[in-house]
Amino acid sequence: MPQLIAGNWKMNGTLAGIAAYAAGLRAAAAYADLLICPPAPLIAPLRAALDGAPVALGAQDCAVQRSGAHTGDLSADLLAELGATHVILGHSERRADHGESSAIVREKARTAIAAGLIPIICVGETEAERDSGEAETVVRAQLAGSLPEELAGQTVPGVFAPGVIAYEPVWAIGTGRTPTEEDVAAMHASIRAALRRQLGAAGATMPILYGGSVKPSNAASLLALPEVGGALVGGASLKPEDFLAIASAAPRD
Ligand code: PEP
Repeated sequence: MPQLIAGNWKMNGTLAGIAAYAAGLRAAAAYADLLICPPAPLIAPLRAALDGAPVALGAQDCAVQRSGAHTGDLSADLLAELGATHVILGHSERRADHGESSAIVREKARTAIAAGLIPIICVGETEAERDSGEAETVVRAQLAGSLPEELAGQTVPGVFAPGVIAYEPVWAIGTGRTPTEEDVAAMHASIRAALRRQLGAAGATMPILYGGSVKPSNAASLLALPEVGGALVGGASLKPEDFLAIASAAPRD
């Protein structure tokens, strides 16, 4: 199965910059599945600018509710209509900035699945939690609280995995620091064991992305680790050449 290299633009990107970005991606041959999650208003224009290039688009969040009186929130159904196939949920910036609990993330994941979107559910420990030896306990608790049971049985038409997990140590996001390869491998093994327990067969195959300061210079070693099924890339996804350099470091089957 090809790895998934997903870009999270966060609150970056402009309508004026879309054409050049899309041209940079269209120029490339990638050996991984590519996904870009721009700010929601850019999903449809980027889809159009990509002009059929094999790059999926996703959103960075969705509402718990599917429609209604929820000012400023984004409906998963509308995101799907705009061309999104995936939605990032429970990113640490949303957990911190918007007080999103794992219970809210689980409800959002249910809504996303019902709307036909593939949730990319983010988990990860803070630096203090790692330093105190609690990283695996914290991540397992986040998985237990954030994953809806629908992930065990639900399949999205045409898509192998109904969901994706992203392990993103909070202290590695945007800092240029990464865990050791041993720590990434140990955490991904722990996540795999938890997914099998929680979701059975679906948990055995669900991709587990690594995220946190992935860049062209460290991508090959991170992506080669056992149980790493791809990367969630923030800053380095803003330049198509860096994003593609990361994608071309993904191991080929
Ligand atoms: C992220 O925000 O998901 C992320 C991994 O950011 P960065 O790659 O910039 O550390």
